[in-house]
Amino acid sequence: MRAAVFKGAGRGLAIEERPDPIPGPGEVVIKVGRAGICGSDLHMTSGHGQQLPTDSIIGHEFAGEVVAVGVGVRRIRLGDRIAPMPFVGCGRCLACQQGRPHRCLQARIDVVGGFGEFSRAGENDCVVLPAELSDEEGALIEPLAVGLQGVRKAAMAVGSRVLVTGAGAIGLATAFWANRLGAGRVAMLANSSRRAEIARSMGAAAFVSLQATEDVTATVNEVLGGPPDVVFEAVGLPGAIRQAIDLVSPLGTVVSLGFCGGEDSFVPAIALWKEVRLLFSMCYDKQDFQHAADVMAAGDHRPRAMITDTISLAALPAKFETLRGASKDCKVMVAPWSR
Ligand SMILES: [Zn+2]
Ligand SMILES: [Zn+2]
Repeated sequence: MRAAVFKGAGRGLAIEERPDPIPGPGEVVIKVGRAGICGSDLHMTSGHGQQLPTDSIIGHEFAGEVVAVGVGVRRIRLGDRIAPMPFVGCGRCLACQQGRPHRCLQARIDVVGGFGEFSRAGENDCVVLPAELSDEEGALIEPLAVGLQGVRKAAMAVGSRVLVTGAGAIGLATAFWANRLGAGRVAMLANSSRRAEIARSMGAAAFVSLQATEDVTATVNEVLGGPPDVVFEAVGLPGAIRQAIDLVSPLGTVVSLGFCGGEDSFVPAIALWKEVRLLFSMCYDKQDFQHAADVMAAGDHRPRAMITDTISLAALPAKFETLRGASKDCKVMVAPWSR
């Protein structure tokens, strides 16, 4: 098969011929329909911070059709369309049974790779797509599930004023779920207004651009009708947690979803005076995957607004590099079988 292989820090991706994958016990092989490019793919191939293994096939947001099943597979059938979780667990421990394979002590991240024509997946660590869902919506489930987990962790009261900082896919997904799950008003705060239209399609009532705003606190409080009860930080850069603590209301909640590999600092006394509840949210449960699939299958197709381009596998290595800078693209989908 053809696949995009990570050639090591600073060397980007290259299209290579690889053996067709064979399913191990409890695994299936899928023909990849769509695979989304994620900000963490860019981070973890950049040469800074934690890096993905050299010579691996990356891509963890994808969906496709099952074309082979391994020994012991019971739940998934040939022809099912699935969205895999990127971790394959042992299937037996408590974490696996709770649908949290990333907490399994035997979790493997080297099984699944969406930037190829085929990928293996764990039968327990995936959801079957309802017939109404397209492959591209299937490939949106993973980032949507990240946002859903964050919003669930916040346990916000109905009618809460919500601010999301950072307008990447995770921030947009978070705005979507906050809007669906009972927020009063949702506002987004980002460097530029590039994503303002997508944010509105995803359920944000207001969008504040740092470039166009002098007094950020006053503007945020104005568009929300008061300081945010919950701030979701989806920036992932030093200073983002401090900013969230500065903006949140007293007794408010800050949920950090950003993937910041560098050191960060904030002034505890400010958080203390406000009695801020500060949480971190990583990944998702399988239930988050299932709910994201169900919500889109039931007719809420707003997340499609995040998809700004669909490209072939051959076009991926070059496109991947352009996404490292400020790009007008939001979620780019790879269609490995289109020429
Ligand atoms: Zn991702
Ligand atoms: Zn396990």
